Amino acid sequence: MAHRDPYEEAKKQLRQTVDLLGLGDDIYVMLAVPERIIQVKIPVKMDDGSVKVFIGWRSQHNSALGPYKGGVRYHPDVTMNEVIALSMWMTWKNSLAGLPYGGGKGGVRVDPHMLSKSELERLSRAYFEAISDIVGVDQDIPAPDVYTDPQVMTWFFDQYSRVKRGQYFGVVTGKPLDLGGLYTRIISTGYGTAITAREAAKKVFGGVEGRTVAVQGYGNAGYYAAKFLHEMGAKVVAVSDSRGGIYSSKGLDPDDVKAVKNKTGSVIYYEKGVEKKIGIDEILELDVDILIPAAIENVITEENADRIKAKIIAEAANGPTTPEAEDILTRKGIVVIPDILANSGGVIVSHIEWANNRIGGLITEEEAKQRLENKMITNFARVWDYWNKKLDTSKHNMRTAAYAIAVERVVNAMKLRGWI
Ligand code: NAD
Repeated sequence: MAHRDPYEEAKKQLRQTVDLLGLGDDIYVMLAVPERIIQVKIPVKMDDGSVKVFIGWRSQHNSALGPYKGGVRYHPDVTMNEVIALSMWMTWKNSLAGLPYGGGKGGVRVDPHMLSKSELERLSRAYFEAISDIVGVDQDIPAPDVYTDPQVMTWFFDQYSRVKRGQYFGVVTGKPLDLGGLYTRIISTGYGTAITAREAAKKVFGGVEGRTVAVQGYGNAGYYAAKFLHEMGAKVVAVSDSRGGIYSSKGLDPDDVKAVKNKTGSVIYYEKGVEKKIGIDEILELDVDILIPAAIENVITEENADRIKAKIIAEAANGPTTPEAEDILTRKGIVVIPDILANSGGVIVSHIEWANNRIGGLITEEEAKQRLENKMITNFARVWDYWNKKLDTSKHNMRTAAYAIAVERVVNAMKLRGWI
């Protein structure tokens, strides 16, 4: 497959949405260009006394709806264009979710596995200090993304609080439970995905009970999606991770499988009721009702889309379906719940965490979970209705509807503010 520039892809999606909504070129340009992108140099003193220089970015795409919000990614291949594209997608995700946030994203070009813990701490503190003038509780609120976690968020929050001389818990989300984080944040993405799959199953099959599910990727998003779909009465027949997958027609117990993965490093060592082992790509083509890609991007392509048998695909991962593949799936009548809806549970609970930090931690876990559930149900219904009532479902997919709603809300905010 030809190399894709994510920023070009993001602009193409925006162009299509702007055209669908009959908006002008000026609005396209306003939304295609991020409001601000900064590049910072991050010199890190290594444990052996040498100095290594890393490069980081923060892209602030649009703030019409509120402060920028989006994660920080540590990855050896991260590029500036990728960070810009991800920040634009965050604008749409936050807008669609009905949150008072714009979109932002950060990245540092580093392989964190090559650093010791103290080197990682120095890198994290230096990166956050370098961007400390453009982030803030009401300005830009980062969160975890690929290879960043609650510990990294703690270093960010602590460094910012040192520099700004205060206690700024709300400057990042995804913090540990003892520092203003919520347990609900941990389950949020997978739980949210499970809710959207259940809502879609009600429309397509009349309910999720007894429906078969395959989950690709068994990390945070995949495991919780499997666990909650199982609790909702669905039958999780197959799961996989980077080592391979397992299949049981009678259904797997997601918690049991997770326990084995934690102990052995992979789901492939789980044996109870397993009828066969399956390959990494095979899981996508199983004869199941619901497919949850929860691993990496671009796994459903024009090459395998024709062989997909699931009736519903809920995108827990970001960008698992290529545009060419989605055209094929749309023609086949497969319902794809787009990533900006299906995996929005994470940022929805990040918003609750941020709000909770500002009111002294008054929101309980039960309340947070209930709010997440209500919001996922409402947001699913809004996209479903737009798709079915305003668009031609044989030509357009749910993603088009989600983008239309998201872009419209941002455009309205820009109009009200007098930006356009
Ligand atoms: P994770 O690191 O916890 O888990 C990733 C899982 O995918 C692991 O089990 C890994 O073994 C597996 N994997 C990797 N390559 C694979 C392959 N080729 N085939 C099958 N499995 C493979 O990551 P996560 O947080 O669960 O994120 C997964 C996806 O969900 C990513 O696309 C991420 O951007 C998206 N997402 C996560 C969150 C969140 O809050 N965790 C929020 C929004 C989106």
